[in-house]
Amino acid sequence: MELTRKQLLTTVITSLRAYRDIMIIEEQRKELSQTLYSLKQTQQQLQEYSYNLELTVAKRTAALEDANQKLHRLAMLDGLTQVANRRSLDDYLFKQWLLLGQQRQPLSLIMVDVDFFKLYNDFYGHQLGDQCLCKVAQAMTEALERPVDFVARYGGEEFAIALPFTAYIRAVQAAKKIMTTVQSLKMAHETSPISDWVTLSLGISSIVPLPELSLEILIKTADQAMYQAKQAGRNQYCIYQLPD
Ligand code: GH3
Ligand code: MG
Ligand code: MG
Repeated sequence: MELTRKQLLTTVITSLRAYRDIMIIEEQRKELSQTLYSLKQTQQQLQEYSYNLELTVAKRTAALEDANQKLHRLAMLDGLTQVANRRSLDDYLFKQWLLLGQQRQPLSLIMVDVDFFKLYNDFYGHQLGDQCLCKVAQAMTEALERPVDFVARYGGEEFAIALPFTAYIRAVQAAKKIMTTVQSLKMAHETSPISDWVTLSLGISSIVPLPELSLEILIKTADQAMYQAKQAGRNQYCIYQLPD
């Protein structure tokens, strides 16, 4: 069939249009591929950024936890001896009082006071006095066997030991063990009127936390027993028995 002039023109124009469209599509494809490339780069940057952010957050969280732990230690431990302070003792006793009350189990408390400690300080100086308190605290901690046994600095040269699930018999054993452990340190106390070494007076009280009783009674009676030990000549333990 013979190609007319008109047909030829139409074919050429159509081809040119098709070519132009192809060129436009090709241009758009290039642009798209460039956009895709820069998108990928942005995604990679974002991933790196998010990774770094996670790392920073993890580091900050760890530092915060560390600071919290330090704060908790400062709040709950005695700064000098590193045993529990009075506040943690109060918390612990309160919790144990409730728990043992439910279980009808005894809670014992031993109050411990270093004998003639003023004389010790006067003779050896405050710094050695501090060291002596640290050694006593350490020895008492070592003397106790169970993780529930709780040593605290009650104030000055006084300590308190909470013994959950413990009646008098075991509390007396614990008191004896504390005395022998501290004696075995043989910490010289030149000016003590009763011994060559640092000695302790201990007061023991034991109560099954019944509703009509209170923690204050436990503390007061242990304190009274400790006072009795002082009166009786020091370097000994006394037990307090609630009147029937
Ligand atoms: P007693 O046998 O009757 O217990 O006599 P004591 O001398 O031990 O008791 P007193 O209450 O008269 O004196 C306690 C001393 O403990 C006085 C105080 O200076 C000293 N003390 C209290 N806290 C600390 C402390 O943190 N470090 C030192 N080094 N001494 C302390
Ligand atoms: Mg005292
Ligand atoms: Mg004392």
